[in-house]
Amino acid sequence: MHFIDLHAQQKLVRDKIEHNINAVLNHGQYILGPEVAELEGQLAEYVGVKHCIGVSSGTDALLVALMALGVGPGDEVIIPSFTYVAPAEITVLLGATPVYVDICPISYNLNPELLSKNLTDKTKVIIPTSLYGQCPDFDRINKIANDNGIPVVEDGAQSFGATYKASRSCSLSAIGVTSFFPSKPLGAYGDAGAIFTNEDELALDMRRISRHGQDGRYNHIRLGVNGRLDTIQAAVLLAKLDIFDSEVSARVQIGKEFSEILLSRGFEGYPKVMPCNESVYGQYTIRVENRGEVISALKEKGIPSAVHYPAPLHLQTAVEKPSTHAPEAVAASKQVLSLPFHPYISKEELNAIADVIKETQDAIAQFD
Ligand SMILES: *Cc1c(COP(=O)(O)O)cnc(C)c1O
Repeated sequence: MHFIDLHAQQKLVRDKIEHNINAVLNHGQYILGPEVAELEGQLAEYVGVKHCIGVSSGTDALLVALMALGVGPGDEVIIPSFTYVAPAEITVLLGATPVYVDICPISYNLNPELLSKNLTDKTKVIIPTSLYGQCPDFDRINKIANDNGIPVVEDGAQSFGATYKASRSCSLSAIGVTSFFPSKPLGAYGDAGAIFTNEDELALDMRRISRHGQDGRYNHIRLGVNGRLDTIQAAVLLAKLDIFDSEVSARVQIGKEFSEILLSRGFEGYPKVMPCNESVYGQYTIRVENRGEVISALKEKGIPSAVHYPAPLHLQTAVEKPSTHAPEAVAASKQVLSLPFHPYISKEELNAIADVIKETQDAIAQFD
């Protein structure tokens, strides 16, 4: 069984991908070829915002966004304690200090109730992650942020295609960023990412930053980075975008079905989606008390699994802040387990996974 079956997807779009890559080989504009602007236009329309800037990865998208917002030494950046390392890494690279806020134990996203007391006059940006494919409570986060004049950057690397109150992930705050790492909901065949905003000046500045701070060729008006999206990756993404709507529908549907199957076997640790959200299940992540045993039992049946993430950020050496009080993040890091999930997974596969989960949970019940 595959954790994510990119091959099943490729079969559906291989002709179009080859056609698009061939077009790039023929015109030869490998850097900022016409496919990049075409993809940016389609992605902006899909997300429902004015501007999209294609960039080299989700991490670079965060870097460019934080540079545009002027994050630097002395600033504090609010980050959930339980997410991928990228936002913390970028914050530290820019000389600023991450302030880790605990998560809601149900959604695993930043807990808005803890936000206000973590704000100081040094807080420069708030970066909520839409973890595992569902958005946090943006209405509450935005309200607190607006009241304090602090911009919000959504890390939508796992939630591209998801909706919050019928608006798409990456359109919900001043800036939204996403990743097209191959295993993300919309995946390229290499590193790629994008930035979204409705603000004209911010868009112009972020575009410049991602292209060496250029305003016209060799006229470098501000510090930037080499953060461009490759033409070939744009060509791949344009082909995959054709089937993305149906893949998102399949993700939503299969995610619900998977949870029903688990619940029908008496397992309640399935992922809970808030009523205002539609999750794309960037990861289908369950919660178990005996994670080691579950991983082994799955492995015995040839079923892969993964842990996102085994430690909260405040305890990750490179970006650590051990004094952080985030008990929910610590608890989650010990119990979460991501299961195989993709738009082409079969009902038989879902049932086979659920059977193993049930067996391992029955074993605990007996033990109790
Ligand atoms: C994948 C991911 C990133 C980084 O994206 P890359 O394209 O790999 O740089 C950032 N944040 C989250 C939550 C992610 O899952």
